[in-house]
Amino acid sequence: MTKLQEVRIGVHPLERFGKVLPRDEMRHAVKVASKARDRLSGRVVWNVNSTAVGGGVAEMLPSLLGYTRSIGIDSRWLVIGGEPDFFRVTKRLHHALHGSAGDGSPLGDAERRIYEDSLRGAALEFASLVRDGDVVLLHDPQTAGMAPTLRNSGAHLIWRCHIGSDTVNEHVELGWEFLRPYLEFVEAYVFSRQSYIPAICDHGKAEIITPSIDAFSSKNQNLSEAAIHTILVHTGLVEGPPPEDADHGFLRDDGTPGRVGRRAEIVRLGRPPAWDTPLIVQVSRWDPLKDMRGVMEGFSLMCGRGNGRNGELVLAGPDVSAVTDDPEGAMVFESVVEAWHQLPHAVRDRVHLVSLPTADVEENAAIVNALQRHAAIVVQKSLREGFGLTVTEAMWKERPVVASGVGGINDQIEDGVSGILLKDPYDLATFADVLDSLLSSPERRAELGRAARERVRDKFLGLGHLIKYARLLERVGIT
Ligand code: UDP
Repeated sequence: MTKLQEVRIGVHPLERFGKVLPRDEMRHAVKVASKARDRLSGRVVWNVNSTAVGGGVAEMLPSLLGYTRSIGIDSRWLVIGGEPDFFRVTKRLHHALHGSAGDGSPLGDAERRIYEDSLRGAALEFASLVRDGDVVLLHDPQTAGMAPTLRNSGAHLIWRCHIGSDTVNEHVELGWEFLRPYLEFVEAYVFSRQSYIPAICDHGKAEIITPSIDAFSSKNQNLSEAAIHTILVHTGLVEGPPPEDADHGFLRDDGTPGRVGRRAEIVRLGRPPAWDTPLIVQVSRWDPLKDMRGVMEGFSLMCGRGNGRNGELVLAGPDVSAVTDDPEGAMVFESVVEAWHQLPHAVRDRVHLVSLPTADVEENAAIVNALQRHAAIVVQKSLREGFGLTVTEAMWKERPVVASGVGGINDQIEDGVSGILLKDPYDLATFADVLDSLLSSPERRAELGRAARERVRDKFLGLGHLIKYARLLERVGIT
């Protein structure tokens, strides 16, 4: 089995940020970019993670690296492979760093052996590619164990952790203890929030960089009303026929026209929702910490109040057969389907469980884009969340977002201004109240949506993200 796969990266012109950002910000960014290019001349910037599809890291890398390539930086993206046992251990680690027990399995010597044995081949193969002075960004727990093998490569080693927990419990401690022996070999760490920096890391070596979205990618680009309507009818997400000026189209990340051709697999009782039915939407991986089941239960509570709201619920995630680094996907999806079967008939009729096609990542993104844009309310009722790009994506699309006040979601939404934060994600009665009240007020939804878009423009677009990475170069002595 090949240990490393290189993922092809496009080239995205930095200048297109000029369409959404003020001129002085653009001028500053261009200056920083050209300085960074000079500093990185003759070096390769390597990024290594464990999946090219699904989840926030796979979402951000192609965009960010595409912009760096357009200014002449030699950025590359490699994905490590692994057996199911390896991904079972890394998923356990993922849960631990979020403060959760996951499947309750241990993280002891046997798991360490599985982890190290699995990474050895990839690390050796990678070490033969890396040159003195290169920059290596290892992403997340899956790749941290490659650091010891790379320590003598002469490259600047950085570990970018996209997850974390604001509070420490036994699981968090267990996770960091597991990773400690590898992390001493890196020169700098990047975390999404200050509170995620663990005690075992030297705080002086840590940089905080919040994630970002790409406003021009197939996930976030503007879509005409006709395109949204056509894409959703075609995939089976809303009832047909498509509008007269039907338009399946979106722009691929390389600028060529794309077309949504595949349908989604949908578990539902009857027909798709009508085009004018308000949809409550959560888009997530099928992961217990995303709490799709809780969303469904909260929605059911709201329906039980019987005040005549006609909203329907769409829970959408990747087709579980396709995501290789998340062994829990299929199990979680099955448990959501099982809970759906238990719902009262009248509620079940209003809940749609959607498996989105993933064979073409950009087609998948265009469907998510259309679904988020069509939603009356976007929900992200996570029990834990590193950052929550789905929240940023929906905010950029001027959607009112109802999301748990956990982890990085707290950095995005100002409660009551640019969205609604749920103080306690387990409090389904309050969740149902919030949905109910928003469904009854299109004006309030529009107001929250407008503020949300401005918040993302100010804080969470890719250009700011890249500028922070440029600063990180100075920290590791690339001047
Ligand atoms: N996503 C997607 N298709 C899906 C489900 C999720 O493209 O079927 C994307 C979603 O739009 C977002 C990313 O996967 O860009 C998830 O990132 P987030 O930070 O919300 O959560 P993570 O999965 O990294 O925990």
